Amino acid sequence: MNIEPSGVVFTGTCEIQTDRCKAKEPAAVSAVWTSPARRQVDVCTPCLEEQVRLGEWEIRHARISRRSDIAVYSPDHQLQLVVEIAEKLATHATPQQQALRIYHNLCTHAGIPRTPYFLLYLHPGHFYLWTNARAYVPEPTYAIDDESMLKPYLHNAPSSFESNLSDRLKGALERWLEDVAHTRQALPDWLVESGLRDLLKNCSTPMQTALAA
Ligand SMILES: [Zn+2]
Repeated sequence: MNIEPSGVVFTGTCEIQTDRCKAKEPAAVSAVWTSPARRQVDVCTPCLEEQVRLGEWEIRHARISRRSDIAVYSPDHQLQLVVEIAEKLATHATPQQQALRIYHNLCTHAGIPRTPYFLLYLHPGHFYLWTNARAYVPEPTYAIDDESMLKPYLHNAPSSFESNLSDRLKGALERWLEDVAHTRQALPDWLVESGLRDLLKNCSTPMQTALAA
């Protein structure tokens, strides 16, 4: 759905209420207009970003700044990998269609930094890896469905620190990437063939949350 931000900010409750919502109780929200129906939706900033990220909303003629879920840097501080995490929505036909839409939205509206590798994890169990994400290529290089891969990391989550699902997924993905880099066990072919394992191994700096431009 296309939306147009009205630019009007006021105190109200957010109508979207994702798990990152900052306005479940009255707080700062902004009004956006749906297009073409012109219905007003009051939304807080984190939910607006999340709706765009999930591919639910597209903002015409606007870029919003946002953070990436996980960013991996080389020892010389070059951004090598951006990881985005989303949940499969019932409103989209297939996981891949949703993934392509998220990627398209991130590239065209959200200003994600161009990196050699871009990994989109669509919960549960869908991995989409772009291996030359410096150029916009709509189709991922690898599309992998594997629900078992993250399960042990989700189940071992330190739950007191990771309360909501997006925090738990982020923690699980971080621990999984660490293991991909350092495990001596055999990995699925796509992690080796793509160069992702070697990239992670060579990135000695700790993973950190990036601020996108
Ligand atoms: Zn909200």
